Amino acid sequence: METKIFFRNQLDEAATLLKAGHLVAFPTETVYGLGADALNPEAVLKIFAAKGRPADNPLIVHVKEAEDALGLAFTNAKFYLLAKTFWPGPLTMVLPRKPIVPNVTTGGLDTVALRCPRNTIALELIAKANTPLAAPSANRSGRPSPTEAFHVLEDMKGIIAGVVDGGHTGIGLESTVLDLTTDTPQILRPGGVTLEMLREVLPETDFAVYHHGEKVKSPGLKYKHYAPKAPVYRVFGEPEKQLELILEQIKDNPTKKIGVLATSEYFSHYPTEHKISLGSRKDPMEIAGNLYSALRYFDSTDVEYILAETITGAGLKVAINDRLDRASGGRTLEDFLQDIRR
Ligand code: AMP
Ligand code: MG
Repeated sequence: METKIFFRNQLDEAATLLKAGHLVAFPTETVYGLGADALNPEAVLKIFAAKGRPADNPLIVHVKEAEDALGLAFTNAKFYLLAKTFWPGPLTMVLPRKPIVPNVTTGGLDTVALRCPRNTIALELIAKANTPLAAPSANRSGRPSPTEAFHVLEDMKGIIAGVVDGGHTGIGLESTVLDLTTDTPQILRPGGVTLEMLREVLPETDFAVYHHGEKVKSPGLKYKHYAPKAPVYRVFGEPEKQLELILEQIKDNPTKKIGVLATSEYFSHYPTEHKISLGSRKDPMEIAGNLYSALRYFDSTDVEYILAETITGAGLKVAINDRLDRASGGRTLEDFLQDIRR
């Protein structure tokens, strides 16, 4: 299949493909989404096939305005309050679904995740397609999410009908997923809309906590995600200490190809060929915007191990931490010390 590249003045053509049940990737303000008509089960199945995505991992359904939610889900007062404040924007809300939403779209769940993206290309495309669009990140399952149209092509060229090129996406991390089916709103996945922002509207909002053996509410969270080909190991401690620990490993292992995922504060200190700066520790927005392209960068190198500085804190840093934790599969410096001896 030839994958067509569309620009923003060619959205009619892209919408026609979507209406005919084909896959077209498009930019949102978070990452590129792999779009399909959310109400067409055959089109939605193509998403799972193209991504290699497990069938029980539900898709986010993108709408052009809050009113569109009425036809898809049983809405409530909290939903409208949050939509008024955060839509269009990087907030996904989970609500009980109406029967019109196919089983395949929701991974068999009786709830549906809805979001209205803050990107004019995305909004125009949904309007022109005249149907809600299911759109998970447009990467092969497990890989870092695409923040540029060429990232989409790296993973999806020849597999999907088209991609709309809208340049670099803004936020660079996926939306916050908020469960509105529980007594109090629970964050299932941290993202661009932070806990602090949500609490200004609904003070009872909190992170969902999972107890051992309990069913994970957001099926996507149990899968490895965002990972480059070489293993990522996170280095913890005070920032200066992280620098010291990474320098020590580079020095102790001169024959190994070690890459470093650094902050701009320490970037120049690392004597390694393959390193990339995420941006300044003082600017989480910058770090979020660069994270996935930085992880993808290592795939163009021959590094065997990636040591990553760690950025901890509240606000957007919670989402950054979550993505790095999953990119690393939970590996730390201790795992590195074992693996390097093999
Ligand atoms: P992505 O593949 O980046 O679009 O991620 C979609 C995320 O939303 C995954 O973590 C899913 O598990 C989550 N999600 C989608 N629909 C639902 C739902 N109905 N209930 C809970 N989580 C959902
Ligand atoms: Mg994804």
